[in-house]
Amino acid sequence: MLKVLKFGGTSVGTIESLKNVKAIVEGLDSPAIVVVSALGGLTDKLIATAKLSADGDTSYREEMKGIRQRHHDIIEALVPAEKQAKVSAEVDALLDQLEERYHGLCLIKLLPDRTLDEIVSFGERMSSVIVANIINGASHRNSLDYVKTEKWFNRNIADRPLTDRLIKETFALPLEGHIVVGGFISKDRDSGEITNLGRGGSDYTAALIAASLDADLLEIWTDVDGFLTADPRIIKDARIIPEMSFVESMELCSFGAKVIYPPTIYPVFHKNIPIKILNTFNPTAPGTHISDNVYDKGTVRGVSSINNTSVVTMSGPLAANVAEINSRAYNVMARNGISVFMVAQPSEVNSLSIAMPAADGEKALEQLVSEFSPELQSGELRSIDKTDDLSVIAIVGEGIKSIKNLGHDILTALADNGIQVKAISEGTSETTVAILVASENIKEALNITHSACFH
Ligand code: ASP
Ligand code: MG
Repeated sequence: MLKVLKFGGTSVGTIESLKNVKAIVEGLDSPAIVVVSALGGLTDKLIATAKLSADGDTSYREEMKGIRQRHHDIIEALVPAEKQAKVSAEVDALLDQLEERYHGLCLIKLLPDRTLDEIVSFGERMSSVIVANIINGASHRNSLDYVKTEKWFNRNIADRPLTDRLIKETFALPLEGHIVVGGFISKDRDSGEITNLGRGGSDYTAALIAASLDADLLEIWTDVDGFLTADPRIIKDARIIPEMSFVESMELCSFGAKVIYPPTIYPVFHKNIPIKILNTFNPTAPGTHISDNVYDKGTVRGVSSINNTSVVTMSGPLAANVAEINSRAYNVMARNGISVFMVAQPSEVNSLSIAMPAADGEKALEQLVSEFSPELQSGELRSIDKTDDLSVIAIVGEGIKSIKNLGHDILTALADNGIQVKAISEGTSETTVAILVASENIKEALNITHSACFH
């Protein structure tokens, strides 16, 4: 049985939580691969300190003292005495490099993207070395050596074939002992510069390794008892979901559920490797099991939401020709690297709405206006406008399209509470019904939607 276990920032954030990690890994029956995040909150701190430094603020030195202390406290408390000097020296070398980067920023008073990428990499580079030396008999591999990215628009995305080959070369099977690696961090395959897989990307590192090695199970160890029916900070009576399908988890995560970084699911889904969501602070809780099984098809599994959404609405006779307008609009978005959350038919006839992250709204509007300029001139389209400050609510469950009146019931419940729905995407997916509301109504709308689905 080969398992890949990923421990997030809170799991590796304190001496106490690291004791749990150690017990969990040392209790396994066979050698495993352990992927770790940076110490909880450190990535945010590294970024904030970089900004300070780039403003010429020398208080980065104070911040560095805190960062050093935190890592050394853990080494002192948990690394066996005979290994402490070696581990301290290795971590100190990284801390020194980090401090040099801050010093450099302070002088140039600029924050180039690639320097920031290098700075955030220190989090996982340090945590992985420390955790490898806390777990009995474990060894360390440097993720910078085998996770490779390429440029895609203004993002770095994993070069899957190259990374796959390098992972197979790095981890010889069967494993002889536990191997600990840092998540999130990578290098550009062409320039060799340090990059990363995006915020929350440690999950993705774990999934890439699990997929390449044909692991039996990917375990995501976090600080909650599993995947919940909604965000528990907003919905007080959200419940644990014991089992869900890959597709359901993918939909919930791409519509804002923070449990798993969305790209994580594809590689393991493709290899049919199940995922378990488990709690480092309550390791005996059953957690959530995600696999290709579809459990009670036609029931709502969960509800999630994304804020900061903009919508571009195209109105006019052409909008009735859904097939043409959809395919042209999708093409424009794809060519520009804009991900579309949903396409919906708003209440108004002869119009079509496309929702996307607010950050891409302006570009999307421009590109759509240019794509459809002939139709705007001929009058086939009357207008193309953008609306901001919207949120998407996603109601997810395999086969929920077959639930009679689901969309209608939710819309009625929202309307009864005076919440106006801007658009609904019913019918475009078998698994997800997406609803657009004004962001100022999101909490209330989520509560009403959750109660309507899980009464
Ligand atoms: N440390 C990174 C972050 O905070 C990656 C991760 O934790 O998954 O985004
Ligand atoms: Mg995470």
